[in-house]
Amino acid sequence: MTFALFSTCGFCGQDIANPMITTCAQNAIIEFPDDSALPAIKWTGTGRCPECNVQPGGNHHPGCQLEICPKCGDPLEQCMDLQ
Ligand SMILES: [Zn+2]
Ligand SMILES: [Zn+2]
Ligand SMILES: [Zn+2]
Repeated sequence: MTFALFSTCGFCGQDIANPMITTCAQNAIIEFPDDSALPAIKWTGTGRCPECNVQPGGNHHPGCQLEICPKCGDPLEQCMDLQ
């Protein structure tokens, strides 16, 4: 599964480049194929996420390379639970 970062998030429908956007409202919960679901790990860096442009304390847009899996702690894009 590969994602490209689009200018518009396919989940929340917001323009990723828009400086008014603080979080991805559609990415608060990560659902796994085994039917478990965990709260998404928010971006906690200094300044906006360099990949998906959300503010600190916000949920990444799905597909962000810097989002961490709440289940295993690996980057979500490389998480084996989601393959
Ligand atoms: Zn989004
Ligand atoms: Zn991000
Ligand atoms: Zn994982």
